[in-house]
Amino acid sequence: MMLEHIENLISEQIKRVENMKKGEKPIDFATKEQIVIGYCSGDGIGPTIMDATMLVLNKLLSAQIQSGKVILKQIDGLTIENRIEKQQAVPTDVLAEIKKCDVLLKGPTTTPSKGENNIESANVALRRELDLYANVRPVVLKEEGIDWIFFRENTEGAYILGSKGINVNEDIALDFRIITTPGVERIARSAYEYARANNKKRVTIVTKANILKTTDGKFLDICTKIAQQYPEIKTDDYFVDIIAAKLIDEHERADFEVFVLPNLYGDIITDEAAQIQGGVGTAGSANIGDKYAMFEAVHGSAPRLVEAGLAEYANPSSLIKASEIMLRHINLIDKADKLIEILEEANQKIKVTGNKENSTCSEITEYILERL
Ligand code: NAD
Repeated sequence: MMLEHIENLISEQIKRVENMKKGEKPIDFATKEQIVIGYCSGDGIGPTIMDATMLVLNKLLSAQIQSGKVILKQIDGLTIENRIEKQQAVPTDVLAEIKKCDVLLKGPTTTPSKGENNIESANVALRRELDLYANVRPVVLKEEGIDWIFFRENTEGAYILGSKGINVNEDIALDFRIITTPGVERIARSAYEYARANNKKRVTIVTKANILKTTDGKFLDICTKIAQQYPEIKTDDYFVDIIAAKLIDEHERADFEVFVLPNLYGDIITDEAAQIQGGVGTAGSANIGDKYAMFEAVHGSAPRLVEAGLAEYANPSSLIKASEIMLRHINLIDKADKLIEILEEANQKIKVTGNKENSTCSEITEYILERL
């Protein structure tokens, strides 16, 4: 039984690698006549920050919406209640609606802890179903000269088989971690292509290849091989533990530019980086594949904030920032530039931290709307 489970996992991965090797032609948004932006509000503080973001996008894109170039389409049902009822990480009908859109703006979704309900994370499922292999997270702290961008591998590593571990017996629990050649090639290429296009001088590969020699060893080897095709860019590699320390080393941290990391390290390190920027409430991210792309806040549904009756103190900047990254992806660059300028100004003037002592979601949203 156990061996059969392992054999099944391996054959699923072999199939996945074959599909990856086929590749998909990326959409050219510059020539696309109509772009459908789907949005799901999610759970907890999700509806509060999504409502704010929609007010902003409706105003910012009013001309494009009126002309029919952009459609903002609400997709219901990506809620924890519906997911538990259907016993699906992303209910089939919801996934079908999402696939009809060009891009998705997603509010945070709750993942119940083990024991409550073993439903898989909606994010992990969406990243897998839509093959969103690059999780791209910018972190900027202008006053310190920090301008980082993280390319976190999004579809393998410790996460892809995270719900498929085995309890061998009462004493032994076993999880699986997978790294594949095409999986690393495509995330490494995304990072180096970004570096080349944006005149970045340095790419840092982050692993723990001294300990996880097979999987992280492969990640490091393949990234290093891809790096050779970009001789103008300096490549270095660090272990994840020392990178966690370097990010809080004020003497060195501003020297880093582009990072490429496997899934789990990317998850942890980017939250640390977001905190340096001003908290998770300020950070947005992109999940990009060849066909689909999904944009979201880096944080979760903040249930403690909701339970304390403080949802209105949630910062919508994370999701508005995600929208800015989305606008760049769909080639509405001037709109993205305008939005980020106003958002940065808003965050300097108005502090929204989830605390009652600071401002509310509506206050910062009003400020942004007035300036648009
Ligand atoms: P969380 O990110 O929801 O909250 C962490 C801390 O950040 C809390 O103190 C919270 O109050 C604060 N915070 C989060 N967003 C904020 C905002 N916009 N403004 C101000 N403060 C904010 O992390 P958690 O509590 O570990 O997770 C809660 C749930 O979210 C879990 O079910 C988890 O699985 C899920 N989650 C979802 C995503 C996603 O959908 N992308 C990401 C992470 C966690």
